[in-house]
Amino acid sequence: MDLFFIIPGVLFVVLVLIVLVRTFTFGDIVPNYETEKVFEPQAERVAEKLSKMIQCQTISYSESQPADPKVLKEFRMVLEKNFPNIHKTCEKQLINEHALLFTWRGKNPALKPILFAGHQDVVPVDDNDVAKWTHAPFSGEIADGYVWGRGALDMKHQVATVLESVERLMEQGYIPERTVMLAFGHDEEIGGIQGALKIVNWLKEQNIKLEAVFDEGGMIVSGLLEGVDAPFAMVGVAEKGMATIDMVLEMEPGHSSMPPQHTAIGVMSEAITRLEKHPMPASPELMLPLMRALGKELPFALRMAFANMWLFRGLIISIMRKNPRSDASVRTTTAVTLIKGGIKDNILPPSAKATVNFRIKPGECVADILEHMRNVIKDDRIKLVPNEEILWDASPVSDANSAQFALFKETIQRSFDNMPVSSQVFPAATDSRHYYAVCSNVYRFMPMYLSSEELGGVHGINERVPVETLEGMVQFFGLLIKAFDKEI
Ligand SMILES: [Zn+2]
Repeated sequence: MDLFFIIPGVLFVVLVLIVLVRTFTFGDIVPNYETEKVFEPQAERVAEKLSKMIQCQTISYSESQPADPKVLKEFRMVLEKNFPNIHKTCEKQLINEHALLFTWRGKNPALKPILFAGHQDVVPVDDNDVAKWTHAPFSGEIADGYVWGRGALDMKHQVATVLESVERLMEQGYIPERTVMLAFGHDEEIGGIQGALKIVNWLKEQNIKLEAVFDEGGMIVSGLLEGVDAPFAMVGVAEKGMATIDMVLEMEPGHSSMPPQHTAIGVMSEAITRLEKHPMPASPELMLPLMRALGKELPFALRMAFANMWLFRGLIISIMRKNPRSDASVRTTTAVTLIKGGIKDNILPPSAKATVNFRIKPGECVADILEHMRNVIKDDRIKLVPNEEILWDASPVSDANSAQFALFKETIQRSFDNMPVSSQVFPAATDSRHYYAVCSNVYRFMPMYLSSEELGGVHGINERVPVETLEGMVQFFGLLIKAFDKEI
C-alpha cells in the first residue's frame, strides 16, 4: 500500500529535479571580450556622405517602374566623390548597367573573398505623407542628431558605413589578406532580380565562391520579449519565403429572395474562418537559439519552458501564438489580405475570391501549404490558385554552429559590450537569398540599436538614423573585415 504512494512520489521528485537542473544549466556562457575601436571617431564625416546619398532619389516604384537610370548614375557619382580611395584602389564593375561591384584584392588568393551586400534603391514616399515628415524625405537633412530621409535605415546607411569603413582602412594603409567585395544591387525593393541576382550569376560564371556574405536584416533589439530588458542582437541566418494564393469560388447566380443556406460569400467566409483557426504547424525549436543566447536574462518560467521543451512544447506554442511577432517566428504565417465578391444587393453572388499571403518558414514549401489548405477548408468547390509571380521558398539556412558564425558573433560582442547574440530566421525578404548559390555563410545583420519609434521609419514616415549609430556601424565593419582577414 505504501509503495502505491512512494513510487509516484519519487518519480515526481526526480522529474522536478531534471527540470530544474536543465533550467539552471540552460543558456550560452556570457563572454568577456574587451571592446575595440578600429578608427578615430568621425561621425560627422560619414553623416555628410550619407546625406548626399539620400538626396539621390533612387526610387524603385514597381517592376515596370524601376529606379531612374539617370538618378542611379548620379548616385554613382556621389559615391565616386565621397569614397575616392575605394575608386582608386578597387576594381570597379557595373553589372547589368547599374549594379555595383567593387573588389578590394587581398594579398592571399587562397582565401575566399568576403562580400558586403547592399542595395542602392529605396521605396517611394506616399504623396499624402510628404507633409507629415519633419524634414523633407529626400533632403538628407542633418538635424537633432539624426540624418533624415528615405533610405536612412533601408539601407543607404549600411552602404555608406561599409564604404566608409573600407575607405578609412585604406587611409590607414591597410592591405587585406583576404579579398573584400562590395556589391550593391539597384532593385532590391522590387525583387533584386536585375541587381543582386545578376551579380551572383556573374560570380558563378567566374567560379568565385565566398567565405561569407553580410547583408541587411536583423539588428540589436530590446523589449521584444516580456521580462527581458537587456538588448540583444539577432542575426538572420535564413529568411522566410512567400506565397500568395487565391481562393476562387463560382456558384449559380440567382435572385436573392430565395437564397441557398450559404451564398458564395458565405462559403468563402467559412473557408477563411477555418483557415484562420487552423494555422500551419509551429516549430518552437526555431526560437531555441534566441532563448539559449538570452539564457540567464530570461524570466524563470520562460527559461524553464525552453530548457525542457520535451515537457512544455504545447504550452510554448500556445504562448507564442498570443503575440503575432513571436508566432511569426515559429511558423508559416497565414494572412487573408484581399476579398472580392458580389455584384448587386439583390443578386446572389456568382463568385467570391479571397487572397491569402503566406510567409513560409524554412523546411516548408508551397505544396505543403496547398495540402494544408485543402485539409483545413474541406470544400472542393473552392479552387486554390497560386500567384506564380509571388512565389518563392524559404532560403537555405546558414549553419549557426560554424566557425564563421562564431567569428561573426564574437565581432558583435566585441563591438557591443558582450551582449547576447542569436541566430534567427529573418521574417522578410532581402537580396541575400540570392547569394546561397555562391556562399553557405549568409548573415543578415545591421549593427545598430533602434527604438521602436525609430524603427517605424523603415518604409514609413520620418525615416532617420542617429549620427552616432552611423559611427558605431563604421567601427563594427572595420572590426569585422579585420576579424575575417585570416584563415578560418
Ligand atoms: Zn532593404
